[in-house]
Amino acid sequence: MGDFESLGIGGKFLRALNDVGYRQPTPIQSQAIPHLLEGRDLLGVAQTGTGKTAAFAVPALQRLDDENSPARSRHPRALILAPTRELALQISDELSTLGRYARLRHAVVFGGVGQNPQVRALVKGVDVLVATPGRLLDLAAQGHVDLSAVSILVLDEADRLLDMGFIRDVKRIIAQTPERRQSLLFSATMPKEVTMLAREILYDPIRVDVSPEHVTLKEIDQRVVIVGNSDKRRVLERLLRDDTVSRAIVFTRTKHGANRLTRQLQASGIGAEAIHGNKSQSARLRALENFQSGDAWVLVATDIAARGIDFHAVSHVFNYELPHEPESYVHRIGRTGRAGATGVAWSLVDPSERKRLRAVEKLIRFSPTEVTVQLPPRDSTESGGSESRREGRRTSSARDMSGESVRSRGSGRRAHASGRSQGDQKTRGRRRVRRRSGQSAV
Ligand code: AMP
Repeated sequence: MGDFESLGIGGKFLRALNDVGYRQPTPIQSQAIPHLLEGRDLLGVAQTGTGKTAAFAVPALQRLDDENSPARSRHPRALILAPTRELALQISDELSTLGRYARLRHAVVFGGVGQNPQVRALVKGVDVLVATPGRLLDLAAQGHVDLSAVSILVLDEADRLLDMGFIRDVKRIIAQTPERRQSLLFSATMPKEVTMLAREILYDPIRVDVSPEHVTLKEIDQRVVIVGNSDKRRVLERLLRDDTVSRAIVFTRTKHGANRLTRQLQASGIGAEAIHGNKSQSARLRALENFQSGDAWVLVATDIAARGIDFHAVSHVFNYELPHEPESYVHRIGRTGRAGATGVAWSLVDPSERKRLRAVEKLIRFSPTEVTVQLPPRDSTESGGSESRREGRRTSSARDMSGESVRSRGSGRRAHASGRSQGDQKTRGRRRVRRRSGQSAV
């Protein structure tokens, strides 16, 4: 595979990569970087977590740095389009880190906040601009930014840009860039619309496919509980309270469902935050910050909201409901088991969802292990008062998963009855106390 130097990366970027501890290129980096340094277009089938940001950022920064021209006011030379503010900010952070020894300037613009600081950053001079489409078009229409000097264009998470209805905006933006440019398109999935867009904007691209079907699934211990909808929340709470769960994302199908479940988990003393498209930008950011800092250790999310967000150390993913599209299952569980770490993905499946489960199994060519979780009697956890809730928590913590009987099915792996290591055992008491006081459990 080789190291970054053998891919053609030079001194100041090697130093920055070394600073952040990226010693070995990830597969997308080793496959993409040499071609990108040569100026080739690229179609990358990859989701967040594969190292795709550095795969496009390092060669782009190096090429711009080689040009050795000062940043021009309002005239970025590279443009990175991202569907959400969160992703734009993550890309911007990565640019700061990887470009720390280069004299290049970057700015990030997105909607939902005042535009003046963004305008000031553009006026000061910008080499790389990271942007969400709507705000970028607004700023361009007002003359605050001019895209005629863009020589590198990156569309990140193209499928999501299209899902979110940005196709016309994206095309209007691309029309403002020069025809002669290097273009990169990254997408986790390749629906027809993305393939068509790729055909329109890429010239003789190299194709790099590191889709999670090939990369992460084998790292993840997948388990299924068949449980009626009316018992799902209690099963979820029981599984969440297992001490092996340090940080979890719970997927629901609807925004409404995410809100309701979050309220219920919070009422049971579980540090949970919801994130979905109906939340204001500031509420979403706050939820993510709480999750990242560990103040909330459970994030309840819808598919759209969670894609593109990269969290380290997500130990568990829960499918509270199976998604409509089997592909979404793969994206969801790809939130755990990152960068070689093992993760656990649970799916809570109502008998009416069996058809969806079969569709998932067909896609992943694998049957997750089916597990039965025994619940404590209803009244010990359900009866309203805080005393009984505390009692309920102690009960389930003490029992953990010992009431779980494990039954393998098909080619699925055997689940560990509790999955708890000795080290985990040691920290159990401490973590339980921290969770109770609402602090970080990570
Ligand atoms: P991305 O797919 O760009 O969101 O990257 C996922 C995570 O992997 C980021 O948080 C990076 O910090 C990390 N990462 C990217 N490249 C490497 C690498 N070569 N070695 C180790 N970690 C990396």
